[in-house]
Amino acid sequence: MIHQSNRREFLQRTALAATAIGAVGSTALRTRAEDALPAGGEGKKQAVLKISAQEGVVPGKGLSEKLDNMEKWGYVGLEVGGGNLPKRVKELQDALKGRPIKLSAICAGFQGWLISDDKETREKALSSMKEILTAAGELGSTGLIIVPAFNGQKSVPHKQAREMLTGFTRWDRSNDKARTSLLGELGEHAAKAGTRILLEPLNRDECYFLRTLADGASICRDVNSPGIALMGDFWHMTWEETCDMGAFLSAGKYLRHVHIASRKDRKTPGEDGEADNYINGFKGLKMIGYQDYISLECGCRGDRSEVIPAAAKLIREQWAKA
Ligand code: MG
Repeated sequence: MIHQSNRREFLQRTALAATAIGAVGSTALRTRAEDALPAGGEGKKQAVLKISAQEGVVPGKGLSEKLDNMEKWGYVGLEVGGGNLPKRVKELQDALKGRPIKLSAICAGFQGWLISDDKETREKALSSMKEILTAAGELGSTGLIIVPAFNGQKSVPHKQAREMLTGFTRWDRSNDKARTSLLGELGEHAAKAGTRILLEPLNRDECYFLRTLADGASICRDVNSPGIALMGDFWHMTWEETCDMGAFLSAGKYLRHVHIASRKDRKTPGEDGEADNYINGFKGLKMIGYQDYISLECGCRGDRSEVIPAAAKLIREQWAKA
């Protein structure tokens, strides 16, 4: 195994050598020489632990009581649904004012789906996502979580879907200047709004198209936009990934959000006992210098006022061990 910094150098040298002999095209060289892992050494940031929770997960009569509880239990991020977001901007800004809690990600809430075989459905997805992205930017959110299509949402075949999303099927056949794509358009809108799209890989029960972090990261690399990033959800990763650490390493610099739940039943972390081990994944997050939120997206078996603070404690303990 080659050390990361040596590997980077090796790839760059290989790219230069290939240029000299004219072996491959310039797009191919540029793309292969890039690496999803952030640079090692002095420039690398130390990972930070920022625990977040979805609004519906936290106990409390209204938003203000929920935020009081989150503050008390050490949560620093609030994740909300995107459905009504443009109308909630002021409410959320006022509720978060003066608190140590910031808006983390926005979870879905758009209409239609991106890889539909129906143009109207695709356009509906595009326009509703843009509306949410504009509001997400005003709120300083890290991004809007999207799924290209769920099972049961009639879509184009895989290769065509990939082409629709990124503008080409393989980077060695692409023409940067001529390229238009759904994610390219969304990425540009998101970046202008000061936020991003967060692609979420799901397990096979829920979708066929995007199931692993490595595949999601490869889509991000192909689109090559500051407005397109990836997230990982420990629940889905339980079923699809062979190694949590490996998955986060493949996601690398494209990883900008994480969901967490118990690993047998998708309840609060800790409610499935021994199965709720995230240490290997947290090691991966530390290795990539992860700077964003780990957010609870889960159901609940016990009393919320006990299991939600217990989940934060478990996450902090396992992070320290990683
Ligand atoms: Mg999720």
